[in-house]
Amino acid sequence: MTNRRIFLKSAITLLTMIASGPIAAEATKQTPVVATFSVVGDMVKRIGGDHVAVTTLVGPDGDAHVYQPTPADARAVSEAQVLIENGLEFEGWLDRLIKASNFEGMRVVATNGIKPLPFEESEEHHDDEEHHDGEEHHDDEEHHDDEEHHDDEEHGHNHGTFDPHAWQSLRAAVIYVNNITSSLAQNDPANASAFYLNRAAYVSEIKALDKEIQKMVDTLPSDHRIVITSHDALQYFGDAYGLSFMAPQGLSTESEASAKEVAGLIKQIREKDIKAVFVENIADSRLIEQIANETGAKIGGKLYSDALSGPDDPASTYLKMIRHNGTTIVEALGN
Ligand SMILES: [Zn+2]
Repeated sequence: MTNRRIFLKSAITLLTMIASGPIAAEATKQTPVVATFSVVGDMVKRIGGDHVAVTTLVGPDGDAHVYQPTPADARAVSEAQVLIENGLEFEGWLDRLIKASNFEGMRVVATNGIKPLPFEESEEHHDDEEHHDGEEHHDDEEHHDDEEHHDDEEHGHNHGTFDPHAWQSLRAAVIYVNNITSSLAQNDPANASAFYLNRAAYVSEIKALDKEIQKMVDTLPSDHRIVITSHDALQYFGDAYGLSFMAPQGLSTESEASAKEVAGLIKQIREKDIKAVFVENIADSRLIEQIANETGAKIGGKLYSDALSGPDDPASTYLKMIRHNGTTIVEALGN
């Protein structure tokens, strides 16, 4: 190739870049980031701002417990520089997706460093469901797991040792935010100061909301503090503010509620005179409606448990979600 031809080629490249305009040029600088579900996706957008292009795998009102990744997800993962997951075995499908995608970026566990709540479920509840699904979950991917998880898996469970729903605690959310910030900064040091500035503003909003919710919950009498939901997704919220949550379905929506458990819950609602039960955005509401009918408790509203809402509903960001849940619970139980 002559010098002249090289010059022409560069000139054409330059012209193409100019023609594609500032928007396209800006877009090419954005770091492709994958977030496994909407809560983490919203946090990444807050911290990364214009410097990141976030793909969220499990979207608004989606159920990450039983999610099935799509070919588009695999493409997004293969192009991502950073992938941020909840961890604590919330995304049981993720290892396989990453393997299928030839992902070469940075994998970040947002819950890294939190003090997870233990998985709490009575032994008698386990017996009912254990024997249905024992075989089908002994897939290839499970053999990589640590020894400590084998006990659960042998019984056919898909949850880990700990409750994965830590985003329901604003205090734990600060740790999510710290992990997200440091991973974005490490991946893109040139924009680290922007990420840390966004983090500082976000964390002060999180802390202010935490105080606001604590104040609201503090108005509830001590005998109005039991919350019934579809599945056990809000233990971290309860742990933070002194509320007890009970659910017919356990920590994962994958397991069915047993008749025995439902009967036990109905008995408790009657004995403790619990006034309201709550439906969830990601779970089938029929069981909660049935429990309401049988006990005379009212439906206190919809809680956003494992996913944000779409843009037109009241939980379209993480902070709106927590505020909505807190307000809904306090209004229903306060009466
Ligand atoms: Zn859940």
